[in-house]
Amino acid sequence: MSLIVQKYGGTSVGSVDRIREVAKKVIEYRQQGHDMVIVVSAMSGETNRLIDLAKQLNDHPRGRELDVLLSTGEQVTIALLSMTLQQMGMPAVSYTGSQVRILTDNTHNKARIMEIDDGKIGDDLKQGKVVVVAGFQGCDDNGNITTLGRGGSDTTAVALAAALKADECQIYTDVDGVYTTDPRVVPEARRLDHITFEEMLEMASLGAKVLQIRSVEFASKYNVPLRVLSSFTEGGGTLIAAEDPSMEQALISGIAFNRDEAKLTILGVPDHPGVASKILGPIAAENIEVDMIIQNTGYDATTDFTFTVHRNDFKSALTILQKTAEALGAREVTGDEHIAKISVVGVGMRSHAGIASSMFDALANENINIEMISTSEIKISVVVDEKYLELGVRSLHKAFELEQDPAA
Ligand code: ASP
Ligand code: MG
Repeated sequence: MSLIVQKYGGTSVGSVDRIREVAKKVIEYRQQGHDMVIVVSAMSGETNRLIDLAKQLNDHPRGRELDVLLSTGEQVTIALLSMTLQQMGMPAVSYTGSQVRILTDNTHNKARIMEIDDGKIGDDLKQGKVVVVAGFQGCDDNGNITTLGRGGSDTTAVALAAALKADECQIYTDVDGVYTTDPRVVPEARRLDHITFEEMLEMASLGAKVLQIRSVEFASKYNVPLRVLSSFTEGGGTLIAAEDPSMEQALISGIAFNRDEAKLTILGVPDHPGVASKILGPIAAENIEVDMIIQNTGYDATTDFTFTVHRNDFKSALTILQKTAEALGAREVTGDEHIAKISVVGVGMRSHAGIASSMFDALANENINIEMISTSEIKISVVVDEKYLELGVRSLHKAFELEQDPAA
């Protein structure tokens, strides 16, 4: 007997007809002999509707009250799905997060799961019931309702799967899996049958549209196999799991990109100990996250220093950096908001040399200038002018033959 945790997103439970379809699918699985725990999101649009209501009445609603409000969206769907299952003759029971006792910290609107009480759910499963749990919510030590941040139902599902030692956690959504890159940029992009946790985390900028990235971190930590599938079409979806050495690995699994960054440079800073920390310290103190960092080799006792931040933080970072430049006697500060980052990702990189040069070749062939480079064990990222983003992604997708299934 195996235990499957399934999560259905907002569009999958967006209407009574959709809820009926979900119930049928759950019953099919149950009849194949699986124990079933189902996590649901609020009906599509509902969480936004609730936030909008709140904002109409209070510019800055307190986190605690906002959580009381937002948690109702999922409470509606657990009740409706359970009723539908019962109507179809399947014993089912619904629980809100605090009824299960999904214990979280007390950071309202962004809470982290600390502990899950699996007692009640275990008893229900023994009695043959389908257990339906509200996603995205829990409660703190004092019984206050908390929510886990937008997209948090994915994390609820994975956390439950980990706590119950489920065999698989299936995330049903409106796309049929994880792709080699965004199909809107590269129409030949291919759905991956499998990808490792590490790769998925590195592809976060693409993956975040498919599932909450925190849920992947969780799945990786507790080694819960995670499958992304469509509730609208048939198909095996994409399995996100630990690296399997027995499986043939593609060199590159995918190409991620983002346009959310901006670049700042401070030129001609004195090249001596403590300078990097003097530059980045004040940025960190303002809670601005820094992504890529480059420092040039010193020349004439001075050096240049470049880093990227989220585009929304560009103006504040620039102001801070200008002050730092004055204090350090630097020559100049420059910035560029029109950059894009492209990354090739793949665990195959560990055992193969030459990926970086193939990447740079492909970009050079299109006359795309690389402005920054950074690498990790399984990822190579470049910063280019924003206007070359699409061309860059397409040429890399082709150069690494990602449109072809390596297993075929
Ligand atoms: N309903 C919540 C949201 O829209 C949580 C979720 O769907 O995962 O963000
Ligand atoms: Mg979602």
